[in-house]
Amino acid sequence: MSGKLTPMMEQYQRIKREIPSDALLLFRLGDFYEMFFEDARRGAEILNLTLTKRNGTPMCGVPYHAAQGYMSKLVDAGCRVALCEQTSEPKPGQIVEREVTQILSPGCTAGLELTAPDQNRFLAALTFQSGQYGFAFLDLTTAEFQVAEYEDWADCAEEFQRIRPREWIVSEDWEMEAYPEGLSRPLPVDGWIFEPAQAQLLLTEHFKVQSLDGFGCEDMAAGLSAAGALLYYARDILRSNVGHLKRIRPHQMEEVLIMDAATRRNLELVDSLTASKSNTTLLKALDKTATAMGARQLRRWLLAPLRQRESICARQLVVARLLEEIDFLDRLSEGLKQIRDLERLITRVSQGSANPRDLKSLQFSLQPLESLKELALELDSPLAKDFAERIQPLPGLEKIISEAIIDEPPVATKEGGILQDGFDPEVETLRSAMRDGKAWLAELQKKEQESTGIKSLKIRFNQVFGYYIEVTKSHLDQVPERYHRKQTLANAERYITPELKEMESKILGAEERVKQLEYERFQEIRDQAAAYTESIQETARALAEWDVLAGFAVVARLHHYCRPDINTSGKLAVEDGRHPVLEQLEGAERFVPNDVHLNEEECRCVILTGPNMAGKSTYIRQVALIALMAQVGSYVPAASAEVPVFDRIFTRVGASDDLSRGQSTFMVEMNETANILNNATSQSLVILDEIGRGTSTFDGLSIAWAVAEHLYSEIKAKTLFATHYHELTELAAILKGVKNYNVAVREWHDQVIFLRKIVPGGTDKSYGIQVARLAGLPKDVIERSKEILRNLEEQELDASGKPHLAAHRVGVGKKRRPRQKKIKEVPQMDLFRQGASRGQVSEVRSQE
Ligand code: ADP
Ligand code: MG
Repeated sequence: MSGKLTPMMEQYQRIKREIPSDALLLFRLGDFYEMFFEDARRGAEILNLTLTKRNGTPMCGVPYHAAQGYMSKLVDAGCRVALCEQTSEPKPGQIVEREVTQILSPGCTAGLELTAPDQNRFLAALTFQSGQYGFAFLDLTTAEFQVAEYEDWADCAEEFQRIRPREWIVSEDWEMEAYPEGLSRPLPVDGWIFEPAQAQLLLTEHFKVQSLDGFGCEDMAAGLSAAGALLYYARDILRSNVGHLKRIRPHQMEEVLIMDAATRRNLELVDSLTASKSNTTLLKALDKTATAMGARQLRRWLLAPLRQRESICARQLVVARLLEEIDFLDRLSEGLKQIRDLERLITRVSQGSANPRDLKSLQFSLQPLESLKELALELDSPLAKDFAERIQPLPGLEKIISEAIIDEPPVATKEGGILQDGFDPEVETLRSAMRDGKAWLAELQKKEQESTGIKSLKIRFNQVFGYYIEVTKSHLDQVPERYHRKQTLANAERYITPELKEMESKILGAEERVKQLEYERFQEIRDQAAAYTESIQETARALAEWDVLAGFAVVARLHHYCRPDINTSGKLAVEDGRHPVLEQLEGAERFVPNDVHLNEEECRCVILTGPNMAGKSTYIRQVALIALMAQVGSYVPAASAEVPVFDRIFTRVGASDDLSRGQSTFMVEMNETANILNNATSQSLVILDEIGRGTSTFDGLSIAWAVAEHLYSEIKAKTLFATHYHELTELAAILKGVKNYNVAVREWHDQVIFLRKIVPGGTDKSYGIQVARLAGLPKDVIERSKEILRNLEEQELDASGKPHLAAHRVGVGKKRRPRQKKIKEVPQMDLFRQGASRGQVSEVRSQE
């Protein structure tokens, strides 16, 4: 910059200094929001705008009326955006006053159209105090505000990742050693806002309470200082309206089924492994919720299944009751369908940003509450009864809104056209003045013509004089005294009368006054609605849960799920189980159901072998998903199911299947395996899909072997282990509760047919070459590999020319390193034809 600053630039620089240094300042200039200097460069790049220069100052701007879209884009790109509005009317020679009204950020998006209504948008704060990690998180759009505390960093980081805040703050004094993986970087803020005393004061003041005892989190010192800091950040730094935050809760009073980030990812609970596909998640397969609140609730439940048998059964009972009578579910769906996103609506109402249409949505959403409450009472289940108690119909408020606001009101609050006819006498008079204005003037013109006898007398209007009476020159002698001359034209004179001016001010003022009055009335009604914030929030929460359970019933009926029997004896027995996601995918082959039987004694660990593409991964995931669905309270895709209550579910997926992350894949694999071995218990379910692939065969096999042994003998977790190391099938011979299963395939005229059936017994054949052919490897390569395979196999024959099967058993139980021979392919008897040797397999494709 050169020379002296203009007054406006001075103003700009001053405002810029008042906001966080990283925030982009959007400076209102007439019909535009402008960015300058570095902000302009950053903004132009993210928004793909042209950067211009005025007097050497780089700048770019977005039109005010289209600003929403641009701001969403900036916020989604991780920016904080300070909106600086004009707060005084422009006057000549004076600089307009300006003020930052709000700072929008990834976690604070008030008023923006949100891209994902089915997801929470959390803002979080994290701290470490007196030996505890404390965090608080807050969704400003739904008023969800919770605190949590952990002694262990790993547990804390785990939970933090699960909540997945869009934006989070820490004290700038805290030197964190590691950040929870996969999140944006935290924002350092002044340390004092995390001070316990300051936090306590802020929270008690905000909630207007003496102490926080009533919220059940009074002992959580670290958690509460995070909560206080968070509230301060939202209110004082982001200048957000927080009046709608009516309570704070301790996070996870009830223990939940624990899953680490890898498990959530591998099981594709809420996100697909392939970014381009969204229909491969459990969330998608189960989401038959009618409201956005329900969709958010379902997502939360899937990430935190229950661990108390009674709570699981309580949810199941609601689903069961809904399925008992078709009428129940229909009535419930009907009611829920009318309900909009109450949580976010009431937030806007409470913050004073709701428009007339929002209020109308609120009214429509209140309508079905009474009948939904009745239905909940009819259901004969304690949980439904609890819903009934929490749902609070507000017929009074519904009536107020319906009587006040027209059925299809505009979005604008200050342009009138909001109120019902007859609602407000003053508005009514003004409106009729506007409506009748023309008629009244016509009447006046007639009256004046008669009283003066001037037939050509006219009442006209222009912007300068308003209404006036015009008389042509030839009739000037008939003009009465009471007319006041206003203007002389070539062939006419213009007059006004007090009566005309009085009407004029009525007519002209009427429109402006109607707009103003309607706005005032509208605000009053909005304030009345805001008084019900707490009860509407509670209603919304109950409806959200109920919506999820109704969705479970819908899916159960649609896809023929069964009600799993929840036990505490550790028995997992599923008949004809299916993969909930795969069976719904269009275009997939008909899904073949499979059983699973795991228990404490006879079968605690399954070693699953079978060729590539047979269905191993699908099967073991399916078992995990069924267990998880049961613990969420859902019915499950099976003919029958007995499911224990697991404390944790772990999955580990072969390195080759998971190349997307930067680290050495073998290292990732070992990290995840270590995590399982360190945290799994006898109550856990462990799903291992290939272990030890990322290193040499011997290393890999040895590790896999030792891991399986440890899980079985030391940890005693229920384990499903899919592996291509056939050697692991030997474990079943040594350890009582380890059983071999394989995915059946059939060889038929040189083709391999995948039967998708899980059958007892091991396999020691890979069919790799057949699968390679299915994948389209050139014929020459296929032929050549067959040749090489034959050569390799020939060396494996024993002295009598028989395959070297016996060699496998030698010494295995003594944990000796497996011998090289066992790594090689050993021919086995064909499943369906006797004496056929491999290699003569023909070119026919499978699945014909
Ligand atoms: P593996 O892990 O043994 O290599 P996958 O589990 O990846 O095999 O399965 C390969 C493909 O087979 C899957 O993509 C799926 O389309 C299909 N599949 C697996 N199990 C079944 C089943 N029970 N019924 C129908 N198709 C299945
Ligand atoms: Mg696999």
